[in-house]
Amino acid sequence: MKGKEKRKEIYRCLNCGWTCVILEEEAALEHCPNCLCGIHDEDREGNECGGITEPVGIWVRSEREWEIIQRCRFCGEMRATPVTEQDNRIKILSIASKPISSPPFPIERIGEMTKIMGGSGETGGK
Ligand SMILES: [Zn+2]
Ligand SMILES: [Zn+2]
Repeated sequence: MKGKEKRKEIYRCLNCGWTCVILEEEAALEHCPNCLCGIHDEDREGNECGGITEPVGIWVRSEREWEIIQRCRFCGEMRATPVTEQDNRIKILSIASKPISSPPFPIERIGEMTKIMGGSGETGGK
């Protein structure tokens, strides 16, 4: 007879090696709480990427909701992932305080941001 067995998964960050145990009922981690990197599972067309997504900025959606803007090291696609309770606050603040071209940027301009970041580094001002 098997009782209620809780399935556990080990999350291991490919970037910094941070590990933690995730219980099945918990939501899977979208990014590593330690270094805020994640894994780019699929791009917009549904192709598997597998690249590491690095935090490039923090976007404040509202007073309580912060999102981490990540860019895939491999394909360069950007995505946003919500900040969680367990995330490394110091790391978040260090990213948030990095000089970025136009804070706070609206999410719908993310394509433009990619261009800015991959381009000449212009601030966009005239
Ligand atoms: Zn990590
Ligand atoms: Zn990717």
